[in-house]
Amino acid sequence: MKFLRSLERLVYPDRCIICGDVTLEKAPFCKDCIKEFVSLFSAECPSCGKTAHDCTCGGGKKDFLFFYSAPAAKKLIRTLKHSPNKNAAGFFGDVIAEFYKGRKFDAVAFPPRTEHNIRKYGLDHVKAIAGSYSKASGVPLCLALERTHRAAEQKLLSATQRRRNALGLYTADKEKLGPASRVLLIDDVRTTGSTMNACALALRKAGVKQITQFTLAYTPPVKKKYKAKKDIKKV
Ligand SMILES: [Zn+2]
Ligand SMILES: [Zn+2]
Repeated sequence: MKFLRSLERLVYPDRCIICGDVTLEKAPFCKDCIKEFVSLFSAECPSCGKTAHDCTCGGGKKDFLFFYSAPAAKKLIRTLKHSPNKNAAGFFGDVIAEFYKGRKFDAVAFPPRTEHNIRKYGLDHVKAIAGSYSKASGVPLCLALERTHRAAEQKLLSATQRRRNALGLYTADKEKLGPASRVLLIDDVRTTGSTMNACALALRKAGVKQITQFTLAYTPPVKKKYKAKKDIKKV
């Protein structure tokens, strides 16, 4: 058995979630990217200059780990979406369990990826993260959210088009949902919030009373004033 495990590690080595290089066994990042990952937590909001902990851009406090604007954040999300990484889901599941330590949820839900993208990339990365959070926290994984129709890829659309496109994109199966009234909703990136809001709407329609939205990364709306101030400093 020990030999088989070593063989498996030789054939499928553990890889860094950011750069894809081979890492130490079970390590989510290589030694160069650990520093980059840690620095994401103190990075400033490109819109208001505050950290992720204090930023209220886009209306009120949002639950997320880091801003999507940092190059390491973009790389990390791209790797999560495009290449199955055996340590990524487990790592972020543990991080989210720590983020919500002491909070009570009846279920954890997620917007399911399109069948086309699951076939293309070989996984539903957000489902894997939600599943891993479920294991770490004991909160049951809920598969109630479903796409109502094959929609155009959200990322190809403008903000207004996204909002329009996402309305009615999801439905929540009441039977799969059961009596859950406090649901944690997880996704990878929040841009306009249209996907999360569409999922929350579907869950609310199915009887969920309290929905907490969490994303790994957030793209806040750009405020012209802050940008202008930064430009003056540079000159
Ligand atoms: Zn790396
Ligand atoms: Zn901000």
